[in-house]
Amino acid sequence: MEVTNKVIAITGGASGLGYAMAQRLGKQGAILALLDRNAVTLDDAVSELTEQGINAHGFPLDVSDEQSVITAFADIAARLGPVEGCINNAGITDDALLIKAQDGVVTKRMSLAAWKRVIDVNLTGIFLCGREAASHMMESGKGGVIVNISSISRAGNMGQSNYAAAKAGVHALTVTWAKELAKYGIRTGSVAPGFIVTPMTAAMRPDMQEKLASGIPLKQFGQADNIAQSVAFIMENDYFTGRMIECDGGLRM
Ligand code: NAP
Repeated sequence: MEVTNKVIAITGGASGLGYAMAQRLGKQGAILALLDRNAVTLDDAVSELTEQGINAHGFPLDVSDEQSVITAFADIAARLGPVEGCINNAGITDDALLIKAQDGVVTKRMSLAAWKRVIDVNLTGIFLCGREAASHMMESGKGGVIVNISSISRAGNMGQSNYAAAKAGVHALTVTWAKELAKYGIRTGSVAPGFIVTPMTAAMRPDMQEKLASGIPLKQFGQADNIAQSVAFIMENDYFTGRMIECDGGLRM
């Protein structure tokens, strides 16, 4: 799909990877619908992108809330036209070990609230936005492309039962939707980033960041635009569907 003049929705588009995707696709002439939960941050991002000559519009939503998602995609269709690209990127972490023990006694456990918070945003949010995008793409008769952002953690990662399970589920949705939606002219793809420089990873302790970087074959965290480039490839390659691009500096061998 040629992205120029196509309406592309990006969840979590006000920050980090989503913002980098907006910059790259915006420079290629896409009409961007940025979807994010904080209206102020969203306005700031839209203003910055507009100053860069990018055609960007903000739509506040909570990806984990069904009515909020339905309303936001209807607003996009009314203001810009139906989406032809949807990047399901919004995500959070809430890390904890499944159990922590001392002297033969369990002292801490991942709370059900932490489990649900991450599953609601990182998995249910992708289901809701993907379902809405697919509905608009089907009914417009134009088809489109849905890209889901998974993670290197989908293979299982210490302290991330909730996040790893959600990110594995994200790729399962990508494969399922490729099979279900091809007949409507809709393709899908996942991108699994490794460690990338964004506000999410900036929250880690500097010594932890250094330790992690030393274990990456390319010896550094990736840049947000490396992930944006992977997303653009899936958007543009008409024979790509149901598969995943792993962009992680070689960390997952
Ligand atoms: P980020 O900078 O924290 O950006 C995520 C954006 O999503 C934020 O603007 C956040 O808003 C928004 N968001 C969170 N919950 C939302 C909700 N319920 N509804 C709407 N928007 C919501 O994170 P990032 O590093 O760019 O990560 C983007 C995606 O890449 C995530 O899915 C993440 O899991 C994945 N990923 C990142 C890395 C990495 O190294 N950075 C690696 C692998 C995968 P608030 O700021 O208000 O929370």
